[in-house]
Parts: sequence; structure tokens; C-alpha cells
Amino acid sequence: MAEHDRFIVFGAPSIGEEEIAEVTACMRSGWLGTGPRVARFEQAFAAYKQTRADQVAAVNSCTAALHVSMVAAGLEPGAEVITTPLTFCATVNAIEHAGLTPVLADVDPRTQNIDPDAIEAAITPRTRAILPVHFAGHPCAMDRIMAIAQKHELVVIEDCAHAIETTFRGQPAGTFGDFGCFSFYVTKNVVTGEGGMILGGDAGRIARARMLALHGMSKDAWHRFGDAGYKHYQVLECGFKYNMMDLQAAIGLPQLAKVEDHWQRRQAIWKRYDEAFADLPIDLPATPEADTRHGLHLYTVMIDEERCGMTRDAFLDAMNAARIGTGVHYLSVPEHPYYQQRYGWHSEQWPNAMRLGRQTVSLPLSPGLSDDDVERVITAVRRILLQGAAPR
Ligand SMILES: *Cc1c(COP(=O)(O)O)cnc(C)c1O
Repeated sequence: MAEHDRFIVFGAPSIGEEEIAEVTACMRSGWLGTGPRVARFEQAFAAYKQTRADQVAAVNSCTAALHVSMVAAGLEPGAEVITTPLTFCATVNAIEHAGLTPVLADVDPRTQNIDPDAIEAAITPRTRAILPVHFAGHPCAMDRIMAIAQKHELVVIEDCAHAIETTFRGQPAGTFGDFGCFSFYVTKNVVTGEGGMILGGDAGRIARARMLALHGMSKDAWHRFGDAGYKHYQVLECGFKYNMMDLQAAIGLPQLAKVEDHWQRRQAIWKRYDEAFADLPIDLPATPEADTRHGLHLYTVMIDEERCGMTRDAFLDAMNAARIGTGVHYLSVPEHPYYQQRYGWHSEQWPNAMRLGRQTVSLPLSPGLSDDDVERVITAVRRILLQGAAPR
């Protein structure tokens, strides 16, 4: 197949020999489930986030991390949690799974992050928590969000699925709120296949989250079957089955060691896109504020039909015809039938998220992209937007 015909997969993970060797070693060790590699992965993650090892708990997804965090926060049933309409469905589903009520607050059209003014406007006597999402890796306005939370005595749970590397005024994302929830899904910046992490300043709450993630059992399986002899456990709560496996941590350990190299590579691609698209009739990602660090998870461009002479979906089709994978992050949550029926939401109620969701396209940004791949993406985007979608 000619090089220009190879399909560029959106969000392809960058897996090297190190990951393959560690997975093989894990399999040869005979210990696949939660055990020493998960413990090492937790330690490495805590060190990366400048927290202690008892302030993190590995789980099997960010969705699980969000769910367990909200249960561990001890909010009363039906309490309202304010979050963004421009997020993955998991953010809102986890609120419902925890027996709580999601309330949406519109985003700032520039940063695409939840707007603190909209949060304040959405507060009611039943509000108990704020769930900001650091969209695409761009840090939320955590100074203002934490001030609102303190004023109204609200729990803060940060959805850091895009924000492993993100910092705001020098402080790592996920360390502002009561809980920070991370994803190691295949398309994310650090990959374990499926996987997640809960981070929190209160070691007691993290211990409870860890217990809830494994059936509510007082001792984890590693201790139960380890070489120290059989240990009895007690079930202290009705928990879930959300534990991370050593097999997953085996992928994550070398991935985490490369997190900065991968970020640097994505930054080089990001800068190349910024230069190459500066003259096009599309909005590019907002420049991060001074003294913050962008996680550079998604490079999103806005296809406005009036300015571009084509719809967003026609642009997606044209990219696909050029054999380049793209993503949409995200159609706003209230565009989906379930939420319309369950909560009576209409997307027009959150106009910024609605417009962004209908215009946005995420371009390939994997650290594994070659320079030629990046140039192929640039050439295709420019041709499609400058000449229209028709010729190949
Ligand atoms: C990916 C993602 C999640 C869910 O992560 P999983 O690990 O797949 O459960 C939650 N929130 C956001 C914003 C995401 O992008």
C-alpha cells in the first residue's frame, strides 16, 4: 500500500518494546490481577503528580474513578452536581450512577471549559458538588472554581481524563479538588488499555474509594493470596468491581515513564498545526493562560459552515476520504436522546456547548505520528478547506 493510502488512525496509542516486554514479564510472573505492578504504577503516578502514594488509588477506568469518588464523597441521594455539557457521556452517567442529579453549566466559548459565572448561576440549595472537566487538557479556572466551592461548601471532583500533564499556576490538575479522576483509555495521554486513577488529598477518603473499588472488602486480593499466607477479609460496604489489573499496570509503567517525551512530541505537532492553519477560516485551540500547562490531549478546530462553505460533517467525510481519522469531542451532552428524555434538557439551553459541539473536529495528535503523517494531515485540511470537499 502506498504511504499516502495508509489510514491514519485517530488517537492511536504509542506502544513500544518497553510495554511489550513489561506485559510479557507480567504474564510470565503468573500474577495478572491486582498486585505488585499496580502498586508500582500507583507510586509512579503519585510521584509524577507530587502527591503521596496513599493519596492515589488505581481503578479500571476514569468512569469508575468518577463513580467511586462521588460515592466516597458521601453526598446525600439526589444532591445536585454541576458539570459541563461539553464532555464525554461518562461524566454525566457517573453522576447518575452515584444516585446524584447532574446540572449543566455552559462553557466559555474560548477555552471550551466550564464557565465559573455559569456555575454560580446554576447553584441551588441542593447543590453539593462541582465536577469540572479540563477539556482537551486546557486547565479550568481552578482559582475561581475553588473560591465558589469554598463559599458554598461544595465538594469538587476534577475530571482529568484529558489532563495528566496539565497544571494551573504551577499546581497539577487533580490536586485542587477533593478528588481528581484520570483515564488511561487507549486514546488518552497515558495508556493501560482500560484504566483509571483516583487522586485525593484526604488519605482516609482515598482508602474508602479503594475499598469501594473492590467489593467493599477490607483487604485486597494481593494481600489475600500473597506469600504472607491467607488473610481473612471483611466486607464493610456494598462496593464495586473496579480494580486495575497488573496486566494493565504493565502497559502503564513504561507509558508513564514516557509521559514527558510524548507531551513534547505532541507539542511539536501542535505548533506545526498552529502555524499551518493560521490563515484558514477556522478557529484553533485557545492559547493557554500564562503560568499554566496545557495537557495537549486534543487539537480541535471549528468548522463554521458560513465561514468554511461546508458543514462540519462534510469536512469529517472529506478527511476520511483522504484516509485520515478524526474525532468529535463532543456533541454537547443534551444533544443525546437519553438526557433529553430523562432530564427534559434541550441543547439550546447551553448555546456555547451546542455550537462548539456542532462545529468541532479533533485532528490526529498521537505522539507516534511521523513528520510525514503530520504533513499529510496539514495538506488534507488545507486542500479541503481552500478548494471545497470535491476533488481528491
Ligand atoms: C475518556 C473520558 C472519560 C472516561 O474515561 P474511561 O477511562 O474511558 O472511563 C471521562 N471523561 C472524559 C472527559 C473523557 O474524555
